[in-house]
Amino acid sequence: MTRNFDQYTKKRLNRYYEILRQKAERIRDHKVNSIYQAYPEIRELENKKIQAGIAHIRNQISGFVDQKTLELAEIDRELVNILNLHNIPLDYLEPDYNCKICRDRGWINNDYCSCVDRVLMEINQQNNLYLPSPDHTFANFNIDIFSEQKNPVFFQGKLSPREAMRGLRTIAKRYADNFAENPDNLYFFGTTGTGKTFLMSCIANELNKQGVNLVFIKAVKLFELMAQRRTLLNSFSPDPEEQDSVNRRFDLINKTELLCIDDIGLEAKGLLNTYSDLIVLLDDRLNANLPVIMTGNLKPSELAEEYDERIQSRITGNYQLLMLEGPDIRTQTAKGKIEQDAD
Ligand SMILES: [Zn+2]
Repeated sequence: MTRNFDQYTKKRLNRYYEILRQKAERIRDHKVNSIYQAYPEIRELENKKIQAGIAHIRNQISGFVDQKTLELAEIDRELVNILNLHNIPLDYLEPDYNCKICRDRGWINNDYCSCVDRVLMEINQQNNLYLPSPDHTFANFNIDIFSEQKNPVFFQGKLSPREAMRGLRTIAKRYADNFAENPDNLYFFGTTGTGKTFLMSCIANELNKQGVNLVFIKAVKLFELMAQRRTLLNSFSPDPEEQDSVNRRFDLINKTELLCIDDIGLEAKGLLNTYSDLIVLLDDRLNANLPVIMTGNLKPSELAEEYDERIQSRITGNYQLLMLEGPDIRTQTAKGKIEQDAD
């Protein structure tokens, strides 16, 4: 009997499989390209094969005696020879899917594939491990807590924090609405208590509702995990269970559809003695076309000084930069009551 899942789970499953497929296909494309580059004769034969195939079909339709079938068989023989000669598997055009049964479709013979249970577990783990505060939503977004006063200290006195926040809210909302077509990278930066985390959480909660698989993690936690992973990697006899758990968590972060890193800043950086792991993570995700949203209290230029020039160049080159300025909402509202956990 076919299993049934609720709409939300279905959406998340579909997205998860889509990303698995895209990743496998991208790796395949890359591999095929380097094969063609090394052995252009293989590409030539593949092209000939396609042309002969088209001619063969055309002949069949018009009822000609089929010379092309012979030609096709001849090309195939040649292709197999040359692939064998270079030790290239005959199915080199086939992506290396995680699940060979359903080819990362999650679905086969009108039923869910057996790999669905493992994928559901991963999705649930993402859910349980890292999600933003559930009440940080666009619906709960109270623009009134931001000051209407223009102040020369903020936005050169040209915008009040409230006006600026209204603009940023529109950008954030649009980002969530257009995520499927245009998943950009964002960096929200500004001083403490200006609402960066709140904005990112709104996006994350909105997308989570739409079924996007995402991870929302504090930079400190991410760096802790990276440091732990590095220690285990360098250790002579790491505890296999711990290593497995750390690797699994890191893997979830690495391949989640949207990664939200909260609060990149001076406090977080102390934990890392190397930024190469973060750079690799950011590069992996850029190459796989998987977006990242970050918040931080460092300007892009300060990222170079405090972190690493390579991190700064990645962010300025590939991220939409969104600045927040204004008085600290938390100290303001703390005078009355805290209405929003603003940062
Ligand atoms: Zn499967």
